[in-house]
Amino acid sequence: MAESIETTSGKKIITLFSSFIMELNNIKSRDQILSALVRILRKIVSPKWVVILDERKKLPLSFPKDDDHNYMRFSELIDWAMENNSHSFYPVGDEIVGLLPMIRAGEIRGIIILGLNEEPKVEEIDALRVFSFLSSTVAENIMLLQELTEKNRLVEETMNYLHSILDTFPEMVIVVSQEGEIVYMNRRFVEESNNDEIKEKAMQIAREVIETGTRRTGEIESDGQFYSIVAEPLKYYSTTQAVTTIMNITSTKELEKLKQIDRMKAEFIANISHELRTPLAAIKAYSETILNSLEEIDIDTLKDFTKTIYEESQHLENLLNELLDFSKMERKALKMERRNVNVVEVIKSAVDSMMEYANSNKVKLFFESNDDVIEAYVDPTRIRQVALNLISNAIKYSKKEAENKYVRVKLEKKEDTFLLLVEDNGVGVPKDKLGKIFEKFYRVDSSLTYEVSGTGLGLSIVKEIVELHGGRVWVESEEGKGSTFNVEIPLSLEGNDGQH
Ligand code: ADP
Repeated sequence: MAESIETTSGKKIITLFSSFIMELNNIKSRDQILSALVRILRKIVSPKWVVILDERKKLPLSFPKDDDHNYMRFSELIDWAMENNSHSFYPVGDEIVGLLPMIRAGEIRGIIILGLNEEPKVEEIDALRVFSFLSSTVAENIMLLQELTEKNRLVEETMNYLHSILDTFPEMVIVVSQEGEIVYMNRRFVEESNNDEIKEKAMQIAREVIETGTRRTGEIESDGQFYSIVAEPLKYYSTTQAVTTIMNITSTKELEKLKQIDRMKAEFIANISHELRTPLAAIKAYSETILNSLEEIDIDTLKDFTKTIYEESQHLENLLNELLDFSKMERKALKMERRNVNVVEVIKSAVDSMMEYANSNKVKLFFESNDDVIEAYVDPTRIRQVALNLISNAIKYSKKEAENKYVRVKLEKKEDTFLLLVEDNGVGVPKDKLGKIFEKFYRVDSSLTYEVSGTGLGLSIVKEIVELHGGRVWVESEEGKGSTFNVEIPLSLEGNDGQH
């Protein structure tokens, strides 16, 4: 053994081993493999050219680069060498062609074909044999690397494809990891993620999904825009992530609202025709009766009839005024004529003028105030209108057959505001309708209450007037028990007379 190492061929093989290991250690990319092999080969012989094929005779790696040296001309020799695992050298023209099959684990892995100027010596042939044996491992690695690179490319392409699809979505999409970090965001989210409010809400919903493992949804309003958020759980290895989609639904919301207003408008038109016809029919009927029986009618009946005609025409006038106010309100043309007035007097007079209406509905109407004078800079006609509206509603929506019906009107002076309170023990407003009754045209489904006339405009006008005075109006109510409408208005507004 020691002797053979001393031989030239033994030394060459040891040099070959060490240079093989050194060269392979330095390889960083697939492209460097061939040049490394050629460099090693050159330590044994001086090939003019080299071609390396895989076991299917494909993938030619060649030196000089990109020249396959027409290796197919040795096709038969290649087949023979590969079949017989025979290292062989043939003179072809003025060169010697060497065929070195690469075998690993008994299987052919490919073949190295090289062109030499002269026939190699015996020890060179030995070294070439070892070289081809070692190169088979390299050839296998090249193939694995090739496959891996191809697979990586496919994975990357698929990822890019999916990302491009997600980037075309008009929705914002994020994926939140179990640790609560955003691990993916599509382009739309990147573009709009400067809105912290939406981001926070989306993250909160995503966290709920991760905690519970179930779908969660939510809505948020930000800068006048409405967003819907839907988060779905996604299993990722042993963790749960949340795929969260954020969609701008402002236009859908607006459309819904427009549709609802449209529906309410249609109802309103049907309603208002009925509202106008009722007093008109009464006026017509009573005046006809008077005309037809002028001779025989006694003075008391005549008084009664004309009183009814007067009341009905007043009702008609009120309705028309309400319509006119509403139309002004829509055109932003509702004007306030403000001056310093005693609000106690204004409200008291409104209560007085409602007394008869209350009595005829068997409702006890009373007024309370700790102060005789509360001075405020307001439009007295409009404030009276607010009170009349709230009081007439309180009477209108009392329980039809109930005992002890009352409407309490209370006026209170606060620090720099006054508070008007109209309390009743009537039918009340269902909880889910409380937010809606101040909207234009809105009327609570009367099957819940009972048939009472109305336009659905009163409270929207009240709200507008109160707001034009810089105040606010709100309601507390329990269905079946009663309601309290509250109006709070500043005593005077500095630097703003509330006029449009
Ligand atoms: P309407 O002409 O129908 O009275 P409003 O705008 O004044 O119109 O009121 C809107 C709706 O609010 C009413 O249709 C009624 O359902 C409800 N509402 C108003 N005031 C009261 C009240 N005091 N008690 C119960 N419901 C009320």
